[in-house]
Amino acid sequence: MRGFELVHPASLGEAIKLLDTDDPTVRPFSGGTALMLMMKAGVFQPSRLVDLGGIEPEHAAVEATGDGGLKLGAMATLAQVERSADVMRVAPVIPRAMKRLANVRVRNVARIGGNLAHGDPHMDLPPVLSSLGGEVAVTGPAGERRIAIESLFSGYYETVLSQGELIRQVILPPQRGWASAYMKCTTRSADDWPALGVAVSLKLTDGAVQDSRIMVSAATEKLTRLAAAEAALEGAQPGEAAFARAADAAATEAETIDDARGSAEYKTELLRVYVKRALAEAVRNGAVQ
Ligand SMILES: Cc1cc2nc3c(=O)[nH]c(=O)nc-3n(C[C@H](O)[C@H](O)[C@H](O)COP(=O)(O)OP(=O)(O)OC[C@H]3O[C@@H](n4cnc5c(N)ncnc54)[C@H](O)[C@@H]3O)c2cc1C
Repeated sequence: MRGFELVHPASLGEAIKLLDTDDPTVRPFSGGTALMLMMKAGVFQPSRLVDLGGIEPEHAAVEATGDGGLKLGAMATLAQVERSADVMRVAPVIPRAMKRLANVRVRNVARIGGNLAHGDPHMDLPPVLSSLGGEVAVTGPAGERRIAIESLFSGYYETVLSQGELIRQVILPPQRGWASAYMKCTTRSADDWPALGVAVSLKLTDGAVQDSRIMVSAATEKLTRLAAAEAALEGAQPGEAAFARAADAAATEAETIDDARGSAEYKTELLRVYVKRALAEAVRNGAVQ
């Protein structure tokens, strides 16, 4: 590994200045769990790493908002989010998903911002947070903007973030009345990267589906929202028949890909099964009060 500069800014503003360059080998570093693997494998050689560990502590805050939503600072560790009483109350699907995310050692170190910015379509949190209607607040040399998490990914390990832009915070809207579930399927060892991830959120009014968000990951090149599956649920009574229609729509619309964990055709069939299961599980989990 070649030498590189490691700098420790004391504020978000200072970090943004240090990242404001056209050189793509200058990168932010939060938990380092993904970055270090890429460096060890030789697929990324930095000239400068900007360590975000010393920026203002408010960027690691995890808190409920007055309207029933959540704000997760980008520097919060995954373990901090998993153990937060506010997160458990507002979005219990997040700590449930964390139980099968890596292991406690990784969750103690990895940060929410690094998890989303990495752009790996196999990760568990992007589908979960996008099914909850989450957005990221992003800060860079040109100022601040908000991006829906479902629109954050532009391709395989690619995001729409510009060089020098940092994820500052994740914002989740109020979750009252929404029922959610996340399921992943691994086709090799139980702790391998998934062949498929499915996250669903349903809003039920008077016993019918008023609104829904259905996301697929891992089986597709990037996190993908399944609009036809959602349309198939609109106004339906939740149950086997409606969930089967949504699952068929999902299988028709998703562009699944071949890889070492299965063929595209196989993943399409997995998707059909798991959309149905995840919808039923969301109903069993019940709506957030
Ligand atoms: C053994 C192991 C098992 C794993 N298993 C799973 C699993 O089951 N499920 C799962 O979802 N994940 C899994 N992971 C991946 C893990 O979740 C990610 O490595 C981690 O979340 C990345 O966060 P980090 O803070 O360490 O990011 P870093 O490594 O610090 O950064 C990752 C990328 O994001 C950029 N970046 C960092 N912070 C920001 C920011 N605030 N704004 C913009 N860009 C930023 C960096 O420049 C880099 O490109 C596993 C990892 C390991 C090592």
